[in-house]
Amino acid sequence: MSKTMKAVAKLEPAKGFEIIEAPIPQPRAGEVLVKVRVSAICGTDVHIYSWDQWAQNRVKPPLIFGHEFCGDVVELGAGVKGVKVGDFVSVETHFTCGVCRFCRTGRGHICESVEIVGVDRDGCFAEYVTVPYENLWVWDYEVDPEVAAIQDPYGNAVHTALACDLVGARVLITGVGPIGLASIPIARRAGAQQIICSDVSPYRLDLAKQFGADLTIDVRTEDLVTKVTEATNGAGIDVLLEMSGNEKAINDAFKCLTNGGTASLLGIPSGPITIDLATAIVFKGATVLGINGRKMFETWYQGQALLQSGLDLTPLITHRLPLERIGEGLELMKAGQCGKIIIYPDGSGL
Ligand code: NAD
Ligand code: ZN
Repeated sequence: MSKTMKAVAKLEPAKGFEIIEAPIPQPRAGEVLVKVRVSAICGTDVHIYSWDQWAQNRVKPPLIFGHEFCGDVVELGAGVKGVKVGDFVSVETHFTCGVCRFCRTGRGHICESVEIVGVDRDGCFAEYVTVPYENLWVWDYEVDPEVAAIQDPYGNAVHTALACDLVGARVLITGVGPIGLASIPIARRAGAQQIICSDVSPYRLDLAKQFGADLTIDVRTEDLVTKVTEATNGAGIDVLLEMSGNEKAINDAFKCLTNGGTASLLGIPSGPITIDLATAIVFKGATVLGINGRKMFETWYQGQALLQSGLDLTPLITHRLPLERIGEGLELMKAGQCGKIIIYPDGSGL
């Protein structure tokens, strides 16, 4: 095996990235070395690429970024259990400490010392990456590698949607980026009666239709509250899956929520936002859930059960690029003219 690999790195605290030759990492005790088969671009990678305020506060270059991927286990560090060389794996990207009170009470998704691969340590836009064995999801049946590469956003969608009682529910999804889109078939299979989606991107609203949304609302030209009121015969929605992080979307969506409804909030606003708490939540007797990451590993088991029952994620994938052309993918993501963008580290599969 050659001692170096191709990787996409942030070397300086500034906009952009470089394609470098980096040493192939060595798995430490409790870690495995994974040869990346397929990876995918996440909005977080766009933040790191653009070097926005969040990235400046969080990321410490030099860093190989990227965190959505699948691959083959090629080497085991000392003390690794439950996995062998040759296993095909996806990875839970939040590496938890295992010892804080949240981890010790089965709530690793809110671990107070979480480390995210590709954000806090070297990630998967490379030919190889090391990860703790506890974070591996070993596929024990044939799965499309491109689907295996997008388990992170899919898991966000599973976690957000299945936190609510969806049987017979009228559901509004605000923001049909990749995670909002993935939520449509999840909500449908979980028993939703009606699924309404809003966005500001016609491209993404078209994808929402392909995923089976009953109604799509372009909030650039249509009023969300009016349209939802009409579509639900004045009843409003029982469940809100908030996946835009947009202040107006959040305020309007709460106006659509019926008394006693549930709002499951995944979207991250770019800063503090204003909301009329009394009207939006208190007097409605609404239940509001903050959703962080994926439950370890309840969400993974739920997500896999849905996939095995026939849920098809492949329409989410709209572009495929070799690692060298990742810059084009990052720009497409910025423009919102895509679903998921798949990256092949060695150009094979294209
Ligand atoms: P994305 O940015 O691709 O999707 C957001 C979508 O919201 C876009 O399609 C955008 O056009 C749309 N939007 C913007 N303004 C809108 C408005 N006024 N009304 C309706 N839609 C509007 O992101 P994604 O990868 O699908 O992630 C969805 C959200 O979840 C983002 O805010 C992301 O930061 C957040 N996120 C949270 C977690 C978590 O653990 N809580 C994890 C991953 C992502
Ligand atoms: Zn912890």
